[in-house]
Amino acid sequence: MRSRLALAALNNSRKAPLAKKPPDEWHKPGNNLAYWYPDNSGFDVLNSKFVCSRCKSESLFELVCRCGGNRWYLGSGMGQPSIVCQDCQDALKSWSCPRCGASQSIWKAFYVNLTRYTLQKREDVPRHLYRIA
Ligand SMILES: [Zn+2]
Ligand SMILES: [Zn+2]
Repeated sequence: MRSRLALAALNNSRKAPLAKKPPDEWHKPGNNLAYWYPDNSGFDVLNSKFVCSRCKSESLFELVCRCGGNRWYLGSGMGQPSIVCQDCQDALKSWSCPRCGASQSIWKAFYVNLTRYTLQKREDVPRHLYRIA
């Protein structure tokens, strides 16, 4: 229930933005491994979200690890983008849409709000690692 309320609030703010507030600017790091490094951490319901690659429905970033942790950073174990638990290092490589049930690579659904989060980009990633899919 908390999720629906928060989502409604986000939708409202999108329809009637305050004059001084910049519009949300959602960016998808995708499978560009230059973004999938622990420098990028501290994701929450305000600065990130999931958008299902199949049904396009949006979900709040409310990941809770099986260890109980909810602090995450980006990683790229074995060249595969993943969202990693800061407490137990468990790496999530896939994400399932709560609406349609589609399981997908997590990088296909993960978005960051650039008006609330500064995404760090590493420039020293070997070229051959840029495209993995
Ligand atoms: Zn954990
Ligand atoms: Zn879906």
